[in-house]
Amino acid sequence: MADTVTLSIDDQSVTVPAGSTLLEASRSLNIPIPTICYHEHCTANALCRLCVVEVKGWRLLAPACVAQASEGMQVYTRSPKVERSRRTILEMLASTVDLSEAPEIQEHMREAQADPQRFPETKRRSPPLRDDNPMYLRDYAQCVLCWRCVQVCAEDAQYTYAINFSGRGFDTQISTFFDQPLPQTTCVFCGQCVGVCPTGALKPKREWLLEQGLPLEQIMQATRPAHRKSRG
Ligand code: SF4
Repeated sequence: MADTVTLSIDDQSVTVPAGSTLLEASRSLNIPIPTICYHEHCTANALCRLCVVEVKGWRLLAPACVAQASEGMQVYTRSPKVERSRRTILEMLASTVDLSEAPEIQEHMREAQADPQRFPETKRRSPPLRDDNPMYLRDYAQCVLCWRCVQVCAEDAQYTYAINFSGRGFDTQISTFFDQPLPQTTCVFCGQCVGVCPTGALKPKREWLLEQGLPLEQIMQATRPAHRKSRG
């Protein structure tokens, strides 16, 4: 098997190591492809489908984060079919999820000329804010189910397995085992999930309390672990 493959992306020829994804090949040409669930330190899963591209001869659009480059492939990253698909994905997300603290996704929406009001009758996701520990809050009304938090909590980084998907269909959400509060799970509050969350669904509690206008002393009290609060 050859060590490299040569393909064309948007009519530009590129040679990449065999096994490269279409996303990697595009980036080597400085051709941007928008992503949401993809994170360079997480395993790619093709969940959000925003990175789809058109491959000549293929019936379906291909998710660039997992589709492998192959010899002679002709790839189009901005064909009408691709742009319509991306725009619809973003419009569907905006119709159900609070994206007000997701600047990268908002930028994708501007680029795609997506209309956040396209589906005005859609039911919005509005689970209650989860405030069950001194370290961070979980607002799944802002969650796009990208799975990054689950992956860093598992094999991609921490091997802690405190969170995973629960529910089905519209009710799918990130949760703990039996929906237990985080302090009653295996969570070690490493903060890696907060670090990879692209939407503000996971937020450090201090940041959230600052936004609520609390004075610093109250914030420090509220975010001290219970065993240290008695020391003042
Ligand atoms: S909480 Fe954040 S990182 Fe986790 S799935 Fe939702 S959007 Fe992604």
